[in-house]
This record gives sequence, structure tokens and C-alpha cells, in this order.
Amino acid sequence: MDKFDIQSVSYNDTKDKKFDYAILPWGATEPHNYHLPFLTDCYLAHDISVDAVRKVYERSDLKGMILPTIPLGTQNTGQRELPFCLHTRYETQKAILTDIVASLDYQGVHALIIVNGHGANNFRNMIRDLAVDFPNFFIVVADWFKVVSQTGYFEETDDHAGEMETSVLMHYRPDLVDLSMAGDGTYKPFKAQTLREGIGWTPRNWAKVSEDTGVGNPHKSTAEKGKKFADAVSDKLAQLFIEVAKGDIY
Ligand SMILES: [Zn+2]
Repeated sequence: MDKFDIQSVSYNDTKDKKFDYAILPWGATEPHNYHLPFLTDCYLAHDISVDAVRKVYERSDLKGMILPTIPLGTQNTGQRELPFCLHTRYETQKAILTDIVASLDYQGVHALIIVNGHGANNFRNMIRDLAVDFPNFFIVVADWFKVVSQTGYFEETDDHAGEMETSVLMHYRPDLVDLSMAGDGTYKPFKAQTLREGIGWTPRNWAKVSEDTGVGNPHKSTAEKGKKFADAVSDKLAQLFIEVAKGDIY
């Protein structure tokens, strides 16, 4: 197996290789109920990426590289004032992404897939800007948690630190989950009907929405459910990586 993850790779592993595409896992640093760590979105985006890149190695001779996970996400009020929570503004995220794209471009790697693990991150307009600044560079973003429908895998739909995220982290990092500490993740929808219906959008004030910072019930989570879902997601992501790396787009 080729080494491809920045967490273990050395220059010796890479010096005679040419990489076809790069993966940038992007998470956040934010509270996840009482039972999951602040870096949950980072671990999940990274670990799913590792599985997907490994599958690409098994299915093709395309060489992928997994870059360091970015732990800086965009946060709502009601979360960002809590200790350890780090809000990152659009301009900062765009500057980080731009410098990474410039580095890859300089190294001759021209395809990047951002594997996003945090619902509030939104890279689309940055990617539109970068498509003009780097016309020979191709950037794709995939929200890993939306790649496969949760229906059939979980009893309750996850929004934040619920059954899906908890189950998948129990699969990848069982030592980091203490389900006995979990709050119920009960949340209060907007009183305004039009905001509930999605006619208008505004970020939720997290403190008014949830007591334990969770949105979604984690109590039915299991590592088995997490593994099944993660396998389905990494299958699909592997297919995406292959198509993007080959440039099979239009
Ligand atoms: Zn999360």
C-alpha cells in the first residue's frame, strides 16, 4: 500500500512519486453535545478520506495525497462564545484555501477535493473565485455527511452530534466517545413559521436552540451503524476522487 496520509508520510515515501490529486479534509473546532470531542468534524472528515483514498488505490493506479485537516470552521452565535470553540471568518478560510491551491499548483498537482465535515462551512463562492485565478486547477467540494442518505442506516436523522455523527465516530475512534455522558440533543425550532419552512434563512443562535449543544438524539448510536454508513460514503467518495483525478468531467 502506498503511503498517502500526511499524518504518517515522510519525504522518503514521496520523493519519486507524482500525485494525481489531493484531498483536503476540513472540519471545525466546536462543542458536540457532552459526549463527543471538539474535533469531531475533523476526525470524521479525515478518517472517511483515508478510507476513500485507500479504495482509490485498490481500484486504480491513481495516486492521492491527504493534506492536513483544517480545524477552522465557521460558527454560529451561541456556540462561538463557548470555550475552545473557534470561529473562522470567510476571508480567513479563503486565504487558507488559496495558499493550499497555490502550493499544489506549484507542485504540479491540479485536482483538489475538499472533504467537508462541518455543516456551516461553505466553500462554493471561494471555489468560483479560484476557478478564475487558477484556470488549470480543478476544485470540488463534497460534504461527506450528505453523500449518502441517512435513511435506512439510522433511526433518527442527524443534524449535529446526533445518531449519525456519534455512530461514525464510535466506528473510527471508539476511545473518544462516551455515550453515557450524552445529552438528548433536543432542540427548539424557530418560532417564526417562515424560517421553519426555509422561506427565509438566518443562522440559528445555538444557545436558544439547544441546551447541550447537540441537535439530534445520539442515544441509539452504535459503531456497527457507523461502519455501514461510513463504508457507503467512502465507496461513493472513492468514485468521485477517481472521476475528478482522471478529469472525466464533461
Ligand atoms: Zn459535527
